[in-house]
Amino acid sequence: MSAPAATRTTVRSEAAFAAALRVLPGGVSSPVRAFRSVGGTPRFIAAGRGAWLTDVDGHDFVDLVLSWGPLILGHAHPDVIAAITATAARGTTFGAPTELETALAERIVALIPSVEMVRFTSSGTEAVMSAVRLARAATGRNGIVKFDGCYHGHADALLAGAGSGVATLGLPDSPGVTAATVADTIVVAFNDLAALEQLFAARGESIAAVLIEPVAGNMGVVPPEPGFLDGLRSLTRRHGALLVFDEVMTGFRVHPVAAQLLYGVAPDITVLGKVIGGGLPAAAYAGPRQLMERIAPAGPVYQAGTLSGNPLAMSAGLATLDALTQPGVWESAALWAARADEMFAHHAARAGVPLRVQRVGTMLTPFFSDAPVRNYADARRTDRDAYARFFHAMLDAGIYLPPSAFEAMFTSAAHGDAELARLDEALAGAWRR
Ligand SMILES: *Cc1c(COP(=O)(O)O)cnc(C)c1O
Repeated sequence: MSAPAATRTTVRSEAAFAAALRVLPGGVSSPVRAFRSVGGTPRFIAAGRGAWLTDVDGHDFVDLVLSWGPLILGHAHPDVIAAITATAARGTTFGAPTELETALAERIVALIPSVEMVRFTSSGTEAVMSAVRLARAATGRNGIVKFDGCYHGHADALLAGAGSGVATLGLPDSPGVTAATVADTIVVAFNDLAALEQLFAARGESIAAVLIEPVAGNMGVVPPEPGFLDGLRSLTRRHGALLVFDEVMTGFRVHPVAAQLLYGVAPDITVLGKVIGGGLPAAAYAGPRQLMERIAPAGPVYQAGTLSGNPLAMSAGLATLDALTQPGVWESAALWAARADEMFAHHAARAGVPLRVQRVGTMLTPFFSDAPVRNYADARRTDRDAYARFFHAMLDAGIYLPPSAFEAMFTSAAHGDAELARLDEALAGAWRR
């Protein structure tokens, strides 16, 4: 049993963090893990099982981060562990083809009608970066359009998020990213079809691709407004640009398969990651044969990876998709998310706290706002201090939320009634003074 909040100790996490800070920048291997935007010491994790995490101080938490999305079956799912273990016993990497890559690609091709061929990479960053290269090669154009607040990994050309309302030339978001690298990156506000129309009217012939998270998840969950994705599809088609859906997060999360099936809009290139690796490093970019055969060695567009299509990651992905495509499994994760959504709204209303829960499938964000959030400018206007206080109240009550107001929460098929009861109890106390 967890200790009550006031007596909870974090001594071991604190010691682990102090040691990490001496050898890892910021004490972490990826920035948001450090709790910088909510304050406090990140909890170091000892183990995960099903919907639960245990930290090094022995506290347990209902996990609503799930490694930022991949673990749609929960932690240490027996089928996934069995698949990884059996594969590992035969060797972990060969730098030569295995049948597992073909099997996972066949699975993806069977599930996503816009996809005929798949190239695997180890991270979503790599996959999106490579999709941009392919789009530029296929169109002979340089320009790429992205939306403010959408994250497509940390490739230099995509580290630009500036601009609101109207199209602006991208400005680098990080020191070390040169103005030249993002000079061909154009940033437009999410859900602003009119700005995109203007942009294409002015310089459509220079645009290679429009990249989008079809449901934005990296500014918190922001769904596309009706007609927005259709509008992107017809604009890009009319102007000879490619439409790239970055479904690294939305794939198998907003729909049993993909956002493109939920909204009935087929992109030219689909990028996948997170769930398809089942908790191991795997991602992919995928599309029609005619486009994908431009990639080396079938074609001239170079892209490679020592561990791409890694057997452990392929087996974890296959085992995950096997389990996830059983009847009712994805639906149970989505149903839990719907019940959590209602529970957030119910307790916030009782406490008189303005909260807008935005949810699609198994992804949700409670924004501290009394207005809907339809783009990044709206998201930035929400009350981040209120989120930080809420985050810590929930953490103390045994619920592990994303340590940032701008990140989606994720649910899994392992979340059930016990986890919902813990959430209810935590929310009942979250705003008590
Ligand atoms: C997580 C994410 C990425 C980056 O994937 P990594 O595996 O972290 O490199 C890219 N795009 C989207 C939409 C993501 O959510």
